[in-house]
Amino acid sequence: MSSLFGCVDHSLYSNGMTFLRRPMVQNINAIEADVVVLGLPFDLATSGRPGARLGPDAIRRASVHLAWEDTKYPWTFPLFERLTMADAGDFTYPVGDPEYFTAQLEMAAEQILRQGKTLLGLGGDHFVTLPLLRAHAKVHGKMALVHFDAHTDTYSNGSRFDHGTMFYHAPMEGLIDVNHSIQLGIRTDFDQSKHEFAVIDAMQANDLHANDIAAQIIERVGDLPVYLTFDIDCLDPAFAPGTGTPVCGGLTSDKVLKILRALKGINMVGMDVVEVSPSYDQSELTAIAAATIASELLHLWAFKHKY
Ligand code: MN
Ligand code: MN
Repeated sequence: MSSLFGCVDHSLYSNGMTFLRRPMVQNINAIEADVVVLGLPFDLATSGRPGARLGPDAIRRASVHLAWEDTKYPWTFPLFERLTMADAGDFTYPVGDPEYFTAQLEMAAEQILRQGKTLLGLGGDHFVTLPLLRAHAKVHGKMALVHFDAHTDTYSNGSRFDHGTMFYHAPMEGLIDVNHSIQLGIRTDFDQSKHEFAVIDAMQANDLHANDIAAQIIERVGDLPVYLTFDIDCLDPAFAPGTGTPVCGGLTSDKVLKILRALKGINMVGMDVVEVSPSYDQSELTAIAAATIASELLHLWAFKHKY
């Protein structure tokens, strides 16, 4: 990035307005980009503490701390020599209109995907994943879901806009194949007798080696295209306090990064990081964790698709 008022390439903190300092674009049809970042400032489906609408901004600002490394530890290639990326800003919608948001986001996401671009969504509450999955399924067909979360988000609830219901609806709509899908870090109640997702719950995940967890994920997803969704509350509140529904006993950021780095080779066609709620954050811990996880996902994608 250049500036009329000096060189900001060397600044670790100035002008932190886009994710990883990539160019901001307003017309995504007019740019060449392998990956498009889209902020999703939506929290109308939140059941607990609100504020995830401010997540995308916080993640972008935190990401400038990560932008100075050409070759990010411990990867062996400079990310942006492998892929091109643009930040399309935030997807905006009329205040208080979740119907509009859901329908229009699905259409916008499909439009981006049909151009052969890959989406990185930055939430927003976790409900944003449902319209994203609908768009991805139209383009990529039925997918395997790799889902990091403290919650299964498989509750029916009878409510249309509830961030605990997406993965009740997604299999019923044929968007994902539960028999090839897996949830990691779960540590809240769910109906195990009816639950078809594979689950590595938080206690198991904390005891297993990251490579063993990754091997189980790779085996589970098989040859299906993968959508990876990361609810930041998968991390323990010690590592991610800034979220709407924190639950103790979660994973460390070290464990999660090791798991993600061991997923090299999965055919990831879509990804999001959600549920960062900056009002409850401390020292940007949660935003930095989310930005780092998103960066790891980009490296994973580049490793597979841009050798
Ligand atoms: Mn959650
Ligand atoms: Mn969730």
